[in-house]
Amino acid sequence: MKCIDQINLKDKRVFIRCDFNVPMDKQGNITDDARIRAHLPTINYATDAGSKVILASHLGRPKGKKSEEFSLRPAAKVLSGLLGKEVIFADDCIGEGVEKAVSNMKDGDVILLENLRFHSGEEKNDVEFAGKLARLCDVYIDDAFAVSHRKAASNAAITEFVKSCAAGFLLKNEIEYFNKAMKNPARPFVAIIGGAKVSDKIGVLENLLEKVDTLIVGGGMAFTFIRAMGYETGNSLCEVEMLDKARTIMEKAKEKKVNLCLPVDCVIAEKAAADTEVRVCKIEEIPKDWMGLDIGPGTISAFSDALRGVKTIIWNGPMGVFELEPFSKGTFSIAASVAKSGALSIIGGGDTDLAVHRAGVSDKISYISTGGGAFLELLEGKTMPAVEALENNGGNS
Ligand code: AMP
Repeated sequence: MKCIDQINLKDKRVFIRCDFNVPMDKQGNITDDARIRAHLPTINYATDAGSKVILASHLGRPKGKKSEEFSLRPAAKVLSGLLGKEVIFADDCIGEGVEKAVSNMKDGDVILLENLRFHSGEEKNDVEFAGKLARLCDVYIDDAFAVSHRKAASNAAITEFVKSCAAGFLLKNEIEYFNKAMKNPARPFVAIIGGAKVSDKIGVLENLLEKVDTLIVGGGMAFTFIRAMGYETGNSLCEVEMLDKARTIMEKAKEKKVNLCLPVDCVIAEKAAADTEVRVCKIEEIPKDWMGLDIGPGTISAFSDALRGVKTIIWNGPMGVFELEPFSKGTFSIAASVAKSGALSIIGGGDTDLAVHRAGVSDKISYISTGGGAFLELLEGKTMPAVEALENNGGNS
């Protein structure tokens, strides 16, 4: 896959597909600009190289219709502050008005197009819509890792129209870090998988079993495994229809000599609430009307031991209901252990990202992925259609 720094950008109109899908409050203020900041290296590189920079993104799910609620105008304002220069805002992403605005741009100028998803052609990977986007540029750069698992006009079909296509630094970093861990990992290699459901991550668990030395399973999904081992789990999350799959995972781990670490104790309560009575019990002893909402101290210690001295760690999903203080200790302790391990550590998913920030260890994590769904699909071993499109069409320039 070609990268932006392998292409001559001088005097070129450079279209950069970004992910400015930022959280906003009801007044339309951006509450976290991290997703915008993640693209600054690519944007600054393109402006410094003397190109005219055309930025495009989606925001939310406007379902093919224009609506003020999903306008990217606030992102233009924030970006302007971050770049320290004016960012022109175009009130559409295709059409004569935008083409005119782009033709008036000078080298180094930046324009942000309105939400791509105001046109239904975007999510349908529509060729005609992609052709109209392509008319705006000479060079196409994909920097939107978080949407690279879904084919859209702005990350797949567009590459058929633009001669010169490459990845931005964010997309390149995401893929490079991921490959470092999954393709040729320094060993021991440990994966930590948590979160709510086994069914959401069964493909991930199956694929990881082929790669890792140790697989740590925590969070709500661990209770399906505990039930599959023959224990009662009270009101804990449990997917009965996944019991067979859980058994197969356990057998396969044995066969492949993967060290599968499951909780040995848990923090339990009668309901998931901040002000409820909590207890700690062994996983064999969860009372009937209680539920496991975090890993217990024995498990924290066992999981932390399993992380000592390892060389590569991949982590997705919290160890408990970490949003509530009484059930947050497991996730934060594991975050601290990952940070302390000194291993190449790669984490992905919104909750895990939030957890390492709340635990105050984000600067000790080697790489925090910007993709939730895309990160999981990579972990499943799937190919990213947008990356494939770049690989197939990036060799023309
Ligand atoms: P996921 O999106 O699958 O990574 O799941 C994340 C969610 O799982 C978070 O909102 C956690 O609160 C929730 N979670 C983690 N552990 C448990 C548990 N033991 N019981 C219920 N929910 C949990």
